[in-house]
Amino acid sequence: METSRRILVTGGCGFIGANFVRLILEYYPEWRVVNLDKLTYAGNLENLKGIEEGDQYRFVKADICDVQAMEELFAEEQIDSVVHFAAESHVDRSITGPADFIQTNIVGTFSLLEAARKTWLEGKWEANAPRFLHVSTDEVYGSLGDSGMFTEATPFDPRSPYSASKASSDHLVNAYFHTYGLPVVITNCSNNYGPYQFPEKLIPLVFHNSMTGKTLPIYGDGKYVRDWLYVKDHCEAIVEVLVKGKNGQSYNIGGNNEKQNLEVVTLICDTLDKKIGLPESGQPRRNLITFVKDRPGHDRRYAIDASFIKEQLGWEPRVTFEEGVEKTVDWYLDNQEWVSSVIDGSYQKYYEKMY
Ligand code: NAD
Repeated sequence: METSRRILVTGGCGFIGANFVRLILEYYPEWRVVNLDKLTYAGNLENLKGIEEGDQYRFVKADICDVQAMEELFAEEQIDSVVHFAAESHVDRSITGPADFIQTNIVGTFSLLEAARKTWLEGKWEANAPRFLHVSTDEVYGSLGDSGMFTEATPFDPRSPYSASKASSDHLVNAYFHTYGLPVVITNCSNNYGPYQFPEKLIPLVFHNSMTGKTLPIYGDGKYVRDWLYVKDHCEAIVEVLVKGKNGQSYNIGGNNEKQNLEVVTLICDTLDKKIGLPESGQPRRNLITFVKDRPGHDRRYAIDASFIKEQLGWEPRVTFEEGVEKTVDWYLDNQEWVSSVIDGSYQKYYEKMY
């Protein structure tokens, strides 16, 4: 089969990246995927278990901050599209150790942009469709009150080192469009959940702790609101934007699913109780909920207006929150070995320090 796209996926061993690689290999057998990942604590080859290297797929262990390695890989693989997931992604870690976030999220994005600029533009490569897709977050917009939603026109107002580093990288990507004409596109998405999510994030953390009888830490009053999107819906939106998006455009992606953290945690606990029965204690799992001291600078509410991507590209989420939680809980129940394998020593040490 002839290869119609040669796509570099960065961070393809992380949560969303691995779901994306799996989706592409299944739906687009004519694309070649080069997955570049540094394999930090969050990147795990187990997330791509069963996928073999060959014409359709290659794994490269490297750091996106290494400009020379990026340029060499672009040339060697004749990369014509980039989907850039690689990042430090956990807000709590950005508060205790922001340096890695500045390095990977800002310097790393800069080095990829440089590799793309040198390889594509200096080689007089022309594109009238997006080729560099930067995956970003709704957290760049800051915090909302009880009403309102983020649109693509909402000014950036990041409030954590994580969101500030992502906002910086979004600005850099836009600058490469305006300054050099690089064919870029940006997606700003709400909270994802689903298979292969590292168990420091809310939903897998609740699953793991409630299965092992540990407390379920909830920040502040638990009334912080996030929009939740099933990861496969996000991956499908990314493909739509990559294939049909407009150069220089940002697209908000969301699930129309605003939930308070407390609601999310309670739903996971109740779903588990229903599926596998109460734990030995005989107490419902929701009794493990413990309110802990709030995170500094905690944004109160995020809500995404995803009407632009629907109007322009016809994308909208397919999985409801209730279906998604059901699928996710089933996946974690069927993959408990995966959960144990990713909870290694370094994660445990970090976890003990935080909670
Ligand atoms: P993740 O932390 O699960 O995965 C990040 C991946 O990047 C890991 O495989 C890691 O090894 C790799 N990586 C980190 N530093 C690297 C470096 N210097 N060089 C090469 N690889 C490196 O993250 P995720 O949750 O899958 O998020 C992926 C992207 O999506 C991020 O850019 C994040 O900001 C964005 N995003 C995430 C969410 C969410 O809810 N998880 C929502 C919106 C946007």
